[in-house]
Amino acid sequence: MSTDCIFCKIAAGEIPATVVYRDELVTAFRDIHPVAPTHILVIPNKHIPSTNDLSEADQPLMGHLLGVVPKIAAQEGVVQSGYRLIVNTGPDANQVVMHFHLHIIGGQRMKYPMG
Ligand code: AMP
Repeated sequence: MSTDCIFCKIAAGEIPATVVYRDELVTAFRDIHPVAPTHILVIPNKHIPSTNDLSEADQPLMGHLLGVVPKIAAQEGVVQSGYRLIVNTGPDANQVVMHFHLHIIGGQRMKYPMG
């Protein structure tokens, strides 16, 4: 855990968030500034700053993180309608919180093309 990381504190239950899924490896909670009717962030409970910091040892964790997405999508009622997964990494992607997080965005038709 990184003591100055807001998402570590959410994973540890030290600051409030609307948690929609939690297990020993990952936590999912509603984004505080949703950009669509469904906007969930899924994070590893372990502090990993960004995609660039993933190690080979993190592969089972990241597989698990992706694996919980359909369960959360089902809870949110967007399995059939679809949803977008986004992982912002670094400045050009506007990554603001330096704790790896996967955005699940859905509940409305997404804009296309991306970028
Ligand atoms: P980004 O780093 O650009 O991929 O996005 C960070 C996301 O975290 C933004 O969509 C914020 O609205 C969201 N966020 C920041 N602080 C909180 C918080 N305390 N609870 C929930 N979502 C948050």
